[in-house]
Amino acid sequence: MSILSGRFLNIRTIFEQILPEQPCVLCGGMSRDGLWCNACDTDLPYLDVPHCPVCALPTPAGEVCGHCLVQAPVFSSTTAVFGYGFPLDKLIQGMKYGEQLALAHGFGKKLLQRIDKSNLPDYVIAMPLHPAKLRERGFNQSQLLAATVARELKLELLPNACRRVRDTPPQSALPWKERKKNVRNAFCCDKDLTGKRVALVDDVLTTGASLNALAAAVSIKGGIEISAWVVARTLPHSKSKGLKTLE
Ligand SMILES: [Zn+2]
Ligand SMILES: [Zn+2]
Repeated sequence: MSILSGRFLNIRTIFEQILPEQPCVLCGGMSRDGLWCNACDTDLPYLDVPHCPVCALPTPAGEVCGHCLVQAPVFSSTTAVFGYGFPLDKLIQGMKYGEQLALAHGFGKKLLQRIDKSNLPDYVIAMPLHPAKLRERGFNQSQLLAATVARELKLELLPNACRRVRDTPPQSALPWKERKKNVRNAFCCDKDLTGKRVALVDDVLTTGASLNALAAAVSIKGGIEISAWVVARTLPHSKSKGLKTLE
């Protein structure tokens, strides 16, 4: 008799037997909740306030923000799970530099829950790393995120359609004003995307300059209805630090 046919074992019991307890990456407490425990999950900065549908910047009633009205980015919508803040920043850093690759899978699942399943794209493309950076880091966290999302939604992931052709300084090292210039012509797409709807996946959207440059490269190859799927959206702390460089 297999374990599944046992009369007194429900699914939850089976899972509790199979899944070992593991320490939460945030508080260290043992649980079977996954990478981080349910208590820590409730403390994460989910983006639950009304926000601009184009760039995910909070707006009073969820309307398109002033920046997008004045100069709309090439991508037409953004899905973001979190605002980029403590303690999520620690997890993102862990995924990116600490090589806690399992986090990419966990974040991919979170992103999955927020994606509008009624309007799915034809292709999924991850924010590419320059080959030199890829060699240095050994992996592309956005590619891992995109792979989880594409697999679960049964969408086609194009891992090699777009390339980063210039090894630019990290955007985070630059003042916001210079980020747009930094990534101009940084990307190149090799695949004909005529008439294809494309979702771009990245870990964090800050000024949107990188995503916009990638979206421009996709658009040049004929991609349409380009959307951004990101784990976290950097939010301004005050009006004076508003995201004026989203262009
Ligand atoms: Zn915890
Ligand atoms: Zn906006």
